[in-house]
Amino acid sequence: MTEFAMIIGGTRVRAASEFDVMNPSIGKLIAKAPNASAQDLDRAVAAATSAFELWSKRTDAERSKACLDIAGKIGEHAEELAQLLTQEQGKPLNGLGSRFELGGAQAWAAYTASLSLPVKTLQDNEQGRVDLHRKPLGVVGSITPWNWPVMIAVWHILPAVRTGNTVVIKPSPFTPLSTIRLVEIMNEVLPAGVVNVVTSDDRQTNIGAAMSEHQDIRKIVFTGSINTGKKVMATAADTVKRLTLELGGNDAGIVLPDVDPEAIAEGLFWGAFINNGQTCAAMKRLYVHESVYDRVCNALVAFARNIPVGDGQDEKSILGPIANQMQFDKVKRLVDAATQKGRVLLGGQPGQGLFFPPTLIADLTATDPLVFEEQFGPALPIIKYSNLEDAIAQANDSPNGLGGSVWSKDIEKAKQVANRLECGSVWINKHGAIQPNAPFGGVKSSGCGVEFGEEGLVEYTDIQVVFS
Ligand code: NAD
Repeated sequence: MTEFAMIIGGTRVRAASEFDVMNPSIGKLIAKAPNASAQDLDRAVAAATSAFELWSKRTDAERSKACLDIAGKIGEHAEELAQLLTQEQGKPLNGLGSRFELGGAQAWAAYTASLSLPVKTLQDNEQGRVDLHRKPLGVVGSITPWNWPVMIAVWHILPAVRTGNTVVIKPSPFTPLSTIRLVEIMNEVLPAGVVNVVTSDDRQTNIGAAMSEHQDIRKIVFTGSINTGKKVMATAADTVKRLTLELGGNDAGIVLPDVDPEAIAEGLFWGAFINNGQTCAAMKRLYVHESVYDRVCNALVAFARNIPVGDGQDEKSILGPIANQMQFDKVKRLVDAATQKGRVLLGGQPGQGLFFPPTLIADLTATDPLVFEEQFGPALPIIKYSNLEDAIAQANDSPNGLGGSVWSKDIEKAKQVANRLECGSVWINKHGAIQPNAPFGGVKSSGCGVEFGEEGLVEYTDIQVVFS
């Protein structure tokens, strides 16, 4: 069994205790991960603080090259990382699974290398010159979830180091191994201490909470649930940390009457079931106009019933199991309640172990928990509407505001509806398609701040204005 250690100051560090990391496809132990103590976290923060002295003074070109080299390393190790990711997360190697995630991680790293934040001259006249500089913050604490652990680690780490910060990352206890290996690979390119990783099971010491209150961490970039995000925000207040919070979503898709149901079924399916629905910006509620309702339901069932579900390491699988017991129990609870009320079109009953087949439940309404709670799993509620205003109002009647989508042949009409939706991203005739040059973030309780593009990069800097 491979031994996994934390990486602190460029060195492998074992913890006094370890915790089990399980393969959700087969329910077996893959490896043990280090269970960091508060002292281990202090050592990682101290290593990052000391590395900041050197890293923040590197030239922009040097930091850009390092990011590009990281992209190259991710490419070289993509298959090894994909295999590890599939074992701990369950997602298949193929389809929109681990190999896809590694491809995304490499592309994001390369794109981030190409971004820069040059000095902006705000004024240069007889009254004087005013220059706006973007300066790195210091040590950034990154806290990641278990659904896209490698990609999200890259989303946090690359803009931080690109702008001259150093990082301590803490992955989810469900998926620590691929992040440990990713950081190990990054350390082949970066000076010691620029990126450090600590892992913990969040039980004996809650390292995420300790990071949020740590005196020497200047910013937390957090991706995870709304409840934990609120705790981070509260804990971080004492040290007035900068925060980027990418939290949960309950994205609505609205299908207008003019669609061709058979043509959109594949897009609707993957919008909702990407990564088994365990995706922040997956479509989690589908509103369909009554005139096309039955045809959309039928077309979705016809597409969904042919998707191969199985062990992530089986090359034929396109969807895997739910990633962990906690999430499985949540999905089962919501689906059980929905089957009492709605019409099960497909699935509805759990399979072996943590497997749960793609589930489509029609005729649900706003008062059903599968509609108003984030399911984060392979079950889509379908809601019939007759009046577009009512559908828009229902879509917006949520504390969440991450993404949304509108499906129509009439793009101008779809854009008008998009404009009415209360969310950070809206897609037309697709859902959840994020890209590295477009800022991504939530409104309302789905978070604060954005990632990606120049707008994402500036979140890792302080402004300094020089008047001369
Ligand atoms: P989670 O909130 O349970 O855990 C996220 C991370 O926080 C983990 O690393 C966990 O160990 C850590 N943590 C636990 N307690 C903490 C505390 N008190 N302080 C600080 N950190 C703590 O979330 P999850 O179950 O891992 O992820 C699923 C959720 O993440 C979903 O709600 C999903 O929508 C959301 N998500 C959002 C985005 C986005 O970009 N908006 C992306 C992916 C996932």
